[in-house]
Amino acid sequence: MKTEIIPVGTEILLGNIVDTDSSFLANQLSMVGMDLHYISTVGDNEDRLVDTLRRAWDRADVIIVTGGLGPTEDDITREAIARLVDEELTTDQKVWDELQRLLGRYPGGIPKSNMRQASVIPSAEVMQNRIGTAPGWWIEKDEHIIVALPGPPAEMKLMWEESVLPRMREKVERATILSRTIKTFRLAEAKVEELVAPLSRLSNPTLATYIHPDGVYLRITAKAATEEEALRIISSSEEEVRRALSAHIWGMDNDTLGHVVSRLLKARNLSLATMESSTDGYLCSAIADCTESPAVFAGGLLAGNLRAKVALGVDESIFERHGEESPEVARAMAEVARTQLRADLGLSVSCAMDSDSNSGDAFICLDEDGSSRVFSHRLRGDRARMRQRAVFAALFDLRGVLLEEVQCT
Ligand code: ATP
Ligand code: MG
Repeated sequence: MKTEIIPVGTEILLGNIVDTDSSFLANQLSMVGMDLHYISTVGDNEDRLVDTLRRAWDRADVIIVTGGLGPTEDDITREAIARLVDEELTTDQKVWDELQRLLGRYPGGIPKSNMRQASVIPSAEVMQNRIGTAPGWWIEKDEHIIVALPGPPAEMKLMWEESVLPRMREKVERATILSRTIKTFRLAEAKVEELVAPLSRLSNPTLATYIHPDGVYLRITAKAATEEEALRIISSSEEEVRRALSAHIWGMDNDTLGHVVSRLLKARNLSLATMESSTDGYLCSAIADCTESPAVFAGGLLAGNLRAKVALGVDESIFERHGEESPEVARAMAEVARTQLRADLGLSVSCAMDSDSNSGDAFICLDEDGSSRVFSHRLRGDRARMRQRAVFAALFDLRGVLLEEVQCT
């Protein structure tokens, strides 16, 4: 089933709102196995919407329109669909009664304009809006399905889930599209592509790479008649992908580096404390933001400047000998974190930006009682990016050490 989404709203074209309705629907469509070929955004202009609907009619089986179902002049979806299918709008008494019942509670009476929301064309079935006023439409005509949903995301989502999705599932020939995302670190996107090149020639599954702050993701997508078959196709490619990218893979799907590290710490019954500077507390929040963290995370120290580092316990003479940001300072910070917060491991990260503010060094140290290991990485990017990359580098390094069973030397 070829599908086209038409989000209606000048606000979207002006950049005032982000079109989250389309991303929600696109995700849903792929899960049902419907092929989304176009998302055609259009402003609140009836002629242009009619043009867009006609184009969609010619190239899609299913058209999903969002927005423009409200009571005001600029809500033109009903009129445009009526013109597309050449049918007349009339007031549906039942819908109008229901609207009056809904709006009657408001003081000052019901604005006349609301009556527009009760107008319907003969081939439209009205879908109830339980949390708003704009009813939706389901139309089946000449081998096409047209669905009109309200714009507000909560209303759109509820109507989709209650009234549209079950019907769509019945219409779609049983096809399932499933994806799995493999997450890597310290590999350039082009390198990932090169390493999995023999697999990229396949048409099922398909592979795609995406760049994220915590590395390059590789998505494997399979299409099949059943979920089991799609899973089997994914698994066979995943094995090869894992062989090709091996040690660079740190997680999959919804994993975060914070999760992965916390799970490893928990499995080894180890606690962690952190100390960071020039990372705005990002290391602490990356670890704290997962369910395992209360069990493994003792806490994090954040130093805003040199004086704070000293106040927290870093020996002042280290700065005199090695500068404010250095492997030696990182070492002292990790030890301070571990001892002050009484954890098994201390992890520190600090960054020294170059004067051009587009690159710098990240110093990371993992401290265990009696031994420590320092990692230095040359990183590129502005301050915000450096901050993220340094933290992800620290978590990736910690993961590596934990996988070696914590033998710091
Ligand atoms: P209403 O009865 O609220 O007027 P409507 O169906 O006419 O509903 P619109 O007027 O197009 O919908 O949009 C109403 C609000 O819904 C927008 O101001 C915006 O906040 C949100 N909205 C509309 N379309 C989208 C979209 N595609 N993605 C995210 N939000 C949207
Ligand atoms: Mg509106």
